[in-house]
Amino acid sequence: MTNYVRQLAKISAGNSSPHSTFAIPNLQHCLDRIKEVEGHVSAFASLSELTVDSSTESSNIETNQHQPLSRIPIAIKDNICTTELFTSCGSLALRDYKAPYDATVVSRLKEAGAIIVGKTKCDEFAMGSSTETGFYGPCHNPHNLNYVAGGSSGGSAAAVASGEVPIALGSDTGGSIRQPAAFCGIVGLKPTYGRVSRYGLVAHASSLDQIGPMAQNVDDVEMVFQIIAGLDDRDSTNSALHENRISKLVSGQRRAKIAVLKEFSTEGIQSEIVDSLRKTTEIFCKEGVQVEEVSLPLFAKALPIYYVISTAEASANLARFDGLRYGNSNRDQSPEDYRSKTLGAEVKRRIMLGSYVLSESYVGRYYQRAQRLRHLMQRQMAALWNDYDAVLLPTTPTTAFELGAKTKDPVAMYLSDLCTIFVNLCGSPAISVPAGFDRKNLPIGMQLVAADFDEATLFDYGRMIENGWK
Ligand code: GLN
Repeated sequence: MTNYVRQLAKISAGNSSPHSTFAIPNLQHCLDRIKEVEGHVSAFASLSELTVDSSTESSNIETNQHQPLSRIPIAIKDNICTTELFTSCGSLALRDYKAPYDATVVSRLKEAGAIIVGKTKCDEFAMGSSTETGFYGPCHNPHNLNYVAGGSSGGSAAAVASGEVPIALGSDTGGSIRQPAAFCGIVGLKPTYGRVSRYGLVAHASSLDQIGPMAQNVDDVEMVFQIIAGLDDRDSTNSALHENRISKLVSGQRRAKIAVLKEFSTEGIQSEIVDSLRKTTEIFCKEGVQVEEVSLPLFAKALPIYYVISTAEASANLARFDGLRYGNSNRDQSPEDYRSKTLGAEVKRRIMLGSYVLSESYVGRYYQRAQRLRHLMQRQMAALWNDYDAVLLPTTPTTAFELGAKTKDPVAMYLSDLCTIFVNLCGSPAISVPAGFDRKNLPIGMQLVAADFDEATLFDYGRMIENGWK
């Protein structure tokens, strides 16, 4: 079995960007790599028609050398609107949907000089953890093609890990950037809720969704984050708070301190991941960072709270896909017919669940109760930041699983977000950084969570993990 990531390490990289400490491959290099591996990895839903004149390295895309991302190839998850390519969200309901506008993040990347190489595969409407439910078929993990790349931003993670692009955007509602980043051995950031505009992101659960960058290293993730973050009038949940570029580590206000969660039980967690957590803790201790155990009592309730709130919001958000306003409708079909024929099983399950928890007789018992618990959890989490700079825990309970292994068991699939979902409920920023491999040579990811708008701390501590595992 070819390991496309090992193979990549042997290929010498092309140009290096002045903004990154690592070599960023040029456009030609990426197009060649896509030709070579895409047939196996299958990370893309659609590809732009790009040509490069190798003598001048000029392409059919105009860019200006002084832009921060000048000529850097980037891939975009298939649920983020772009005018040039389809935005299908992996759903037959939107199979031929071309957005009339670019998402704010896409406009910002283009203004910075980036070249959009293609749209990457995801689970249908970003509901899933394995990138298997899209109508275009599954994406494969470049470390071992029989394994999933994670999800729902699996295409973005696999495209970066296999060297098809140096940078990709994903979206994260319950873990969909961090979990595939961990499964594919790359870095993925879920920014603070409200930090990055959601304008042009097809909504899954609006109070949880955030767009974020995925790349080979923390520096590149940070660089792209600075470009896509910021105020946007077209997203009313976007925050006006100013960015904090000074991390707790650098400001030296108090001794550097990280928390590990008492409620995070290592029972049921793959043993190599427990070992990796121990080693990562040692890395921090060696750097003089104090590591202490703290309590977040509602951590264990995050999964049920999430599946009430996210399905409630999804059932409302997805009501618009009725074949009349979006999608390629057959005029003779009723909206009910259209929805029943074009939406997949997992999406239907969530619409039904969401409608149920919002129904008059049950709204108090489920939805309102979940909201109260969510607010309580947010308060428990906020209290941590008085004493700690970040929380450390694994990104996932297991490494990547085999394709098809969990498709028939939704609860097993939901459990793969055990460690990431509480972060979305609290709105906090979090990053997943590679931290070793299991005995099958599949990557392990460690996760850091910080206070709202404190991404700077994630980057500095994230680099410590990165350097410690080198
Ligand atoms: N796997 C989770 C779900 O299916 C998270 C998805 C996401 O973050 N988009 O809801």
